[in-house]
Amino acid sequence: MLERRTGEFPSLLIKETETCDAEKFEAGEAALSLSLYLNGQETQEIRSVTHLLDGLMIRDPKRRSISRVLYGEEIVAARTGDQIYVLSHKSGKDVQICPQMTYGKNSVESAALNTSFFIHQAYEKTQKLLPETHIAPIDLRVGSLVSYEQQVPGRRGSILYSTYDVDNAYYVPQEKSIIFLPHSKKRSGSFAKFWQIPTVANHEYGHHIFASLSPRGVRAGLEGCFGHDHDLIDSAEGRVGTRTARDLETALNEGFSDLFAFYSLLPRERSIQGIPELIMTREIHSPFFNNFQMKTFSEEALLDFFSPKSETRIQTHYAIKHSFGAIFAHRANELLESFTLSDERKLYVLLSWVKEYGKNWSRFQSYEPRTMLDEMLRLFVTTTLGEVKKSLNAETCPKVIRFYPRFEELLDECRL
Ligand SMILES: [Zn+2]
Repeated sequence: MLERRTGEFPSLLIKETETCDAEKFEAGEAALSLSLYLNGQETQEIRSVTHLLDGLMIRDPKRRSISRVLYGEEIVAARTGDQIYVLSHKSGKDVQICPQMTYGKNSVESAALNTSFFIHQAYEKTQKLLPETHIAPIDLRVGSLVSYEQQVPGRRGSILYSTYDVDNAYYVPQEKSIIFLPHSKKRSGSFAKFWQIPTVANHEYGHHIFASLSPRGVRAGLEGCFGHDHDLIDSAEGRVGTRTARDLETALNEGFSDLFAFYSLLPRERSIQGIPELIMTREIHSPFFNNFQMKTFSEEALLDFFSPKSETRIQTHYAIKHSFGAIFAHRANELLESFTLSDERKLYVLLSWVKEYGKNWSRFQSYEPRTMLDEMLRLFVTTTLGEVKKSLNAETCPKVIRFYPRFEELLDECRL
């Protein structure tokens, strides 16, 4: 059989040290330099990582936030429609680090340290706000080499096409794993690595929190979170029929995870500069997508998102799940900001919203998707007003209608 490689080639992460000659970190003083990319600049930050070391292994020694951090994993898979079949899987190894080392930004160790540092921090913030909620520990898999195979009949026998999956990160709910793929050789040059940008790790962890708060509500699958727009259209919008409640949930889950990352990081840690694909479109504060379409739940946006896919219709941002989620993220943040809540309280409202959704999952899923959107956003308003101890009135109605224009008709208290 002929074999052909297509697509981009991965630039592999480097394992800088295999062993450290029995050296040990002095108890209580493990501080290492994280190689980050913040506000459009490469930066080295010394952070204490004692709480993330189990001997020389990077992982939460109490296994509360992270059970393992692995590298060197190799997966060969095949894709048929929405389904993914794993053809072969070589497991990864635990990431170990050595004292007195500074790790380069393309190293396994650096990717593992950065991402586990911010994920653990997000875990602590969430657990503090929702102490009664069980959040299972995750596996973090960095630099996984994933390729997809496809057999295509040719004139002289079949041809096996093999394509690497690169330049992305995703959450696998059934394995409670966050995977950071390598970057492509093509992208590797001047751009930031996804593991250098805390927003990427915290967005993925946001999906885990969504799954923890609404366990029945998360679809299995490998859908990358940070590809180009056209990739998103290809992968997310390969739909033929009409939208389902699950599609809407996926879109809101994306918006939730963008907001989760935003509120669980400090302002100086949460810029997404360095990922040109995401500028404007995935920036919470930006009222526009990168093609200058407005982030609003207009009738046009609802029509584009909920209509069956049509060949004649031009694909707009509104038809893409990640972008539809970005409308929610922008508008929800505007609503919360209008009540001048702190980031911690905003995070609490956001978490409480999904928790309530998770409790009433069957009821929400039974709605027709457009009604489900009405009800999900109504729940968000109720949760927000509950937090600020206000009701629908002349002060709050204009804010609520800016969030979702259909509330002008849907909410009796806000009808003129
Ligand atoms: Zn995502």
